[in-house]
Amino acid sequence: MSKQPAPIEKNEIIEVQIEDLTHDGAGVAKVDGYALFIPKALPGEKIKAKVVKVKKGYGFARVMETIEESAHRAEPPCPIYNQCGGCQLQHMSYEAQLTYKQKQVKDVLERIGQIKGIPVHATLGMNDPWRYRNKAQVPVGEEEGGLIAGFYQERSHRIIDMDECLIQHQENDEVVSIVKEIAKRYGIRGYDEDKHRGTLRHVVARYGKQTGDIMVVLITRGKELPNKKNIIEDIQQAIPKVKSIVQNINPKRTNVIFGDQTIILWGDEYIYDSIGNIRFAISARSFYQVNPDQTKVLYDKALEYADLKGNETVIDAYCGIGTISLFLAQKAKHVYGVEIVPEAISDAKKNAEINGFTNVDFAVGEAENVMPWWYAQGIRPDVIVVDPPRKGCDEKLLETILNMKPKRVVYVSCNPATLARDLRVLEDGGYKTKEVQPVDMFPHSTHVECVAQLVLNK
Ligand code: SAH
Repeated sequence: MSKQPAPIEKNEIIEVQIEDLTHDGAGVAKVDGYALFIPKALPGEKIKAKVVKVKKGYGFARVMETIEESAHRAEPPCPIYNQCGGCQLQHMSYEAQLTYKQKQVKDVLERIGQIKGIPVHATLGMNDPWRYRNKAQVPVGEEEGGLIAGFYQERSHRIIDMDECLIQHQENDEVVSIVKEIAKRYGIRGYDEDKHRGTLRHVVARYGKQTGDIMVVLITRGKELPNKKNIIEDIQQAIPKVKSIVQNINPKRTNVIFGDQTIILWGDEYIYDSIGNIRFAISARSFYQVNPDQTKVLYDKALEYADLKGNETVIDAYCGIGTISLFLAQKAKHVYGVEIVPEAISDAKKNAEINGFTNVDFAVGEAENVMPWWYAQGIRPDVIVVDPPRKGCDEKLLETILNMKPKRVVYVSCNPATLARDLRVLEDGGYKTKEVQPVDMFPHSTHVECVAQLVLNK
């Protein structure tokens, strides 16, 4: 990026050609080599834009008029797309979104990891990329007219009332609307963040797509929930598929949604869902992938890349509730999973049990510390799978992989930049990246998930 003085001024209105998209989905134009980022503009478009911010190497502008429109432009079907900020790519055709994600991965691997000349496949997308989320977490507040529940306006803490989110399962939308009505009926006060007053902070709806199970979680500021009995009865009545009604108490002044105390108000502690042949128990606070259809696609790919014949010892690092571990356990001799969150490991053990797996072991701890310990115990994995958070793998963990020398490494990543960085370390340590498969877990957002297969050089 050039560091020359900006060739434009704030508030200037200019015509530009959009050349590229950033990783967060903004259009990129160049003015005499100076980069200008323009949200909601697409490559190939000619835009009349107003400059809103000028920095040393780059600036920001806002679309005033689209002079020439991209063939990939789509009419966002969501009426609140421009206010919400939950989705970033609805103005782009789904096909173009998938191509953009593939290019994104390819570019980043080359630029950050110097990983070139390998297949980065076309992004595996959804046939119907709407209504895919199985969990809704809806903030509740108050307006003059009473309780509202919806979404935070982009870059603010103002709640806007909403009844429908097009990437949410219909069932979750209905559950939230019903619970909102019931709460209003009994005069429940919405939470006021500034004054730290009111009762109901969030409504969380979880849906097991394969089972139809529904869980309702009411997150309250204190233990007290006026008219609790009536509310429970009305929810059961209005939502016949509800299996679990839960209250979670969060007394803190915080953005974190859940508090520490959970009370089962009615029904079971868990709902169930399955991915492929494996059943998962999901409690109010369990981490569970939000797009189970695409999770199956992702895990099938991870399993294919692991290339198991039945005799292998496998490590699944950053295993969460053991989803990938159990997928692998179907085909491996033994799987070791490690994860830092103790509750996730209890869920993983429960999930192994309800599916009858006896060839898995789960450990709580930092993967970068547990794996060297396993190594010292003499554990020699044939395959290591990693699925780290956005910041990627710890250096010490990569070092341990290089010491353990598994034949294959399968890297599942939610951040191509740290994937690229880590692949470079593994390549320098004797591995070769064979191929990378992007998978679209979050249609209409800029997130891209991918799986990479690495093999040990002979
Ligand atoms: N493989 C799981 C979860 C992946 S998300 C799935 O597909 O569902 C990444 C996980 O890594 C999270 O569960 C997070 O709690 C865990 N984690 C973060 N840092 C960690 C560390 N240093 N060691 C082990 N696990 C960690």
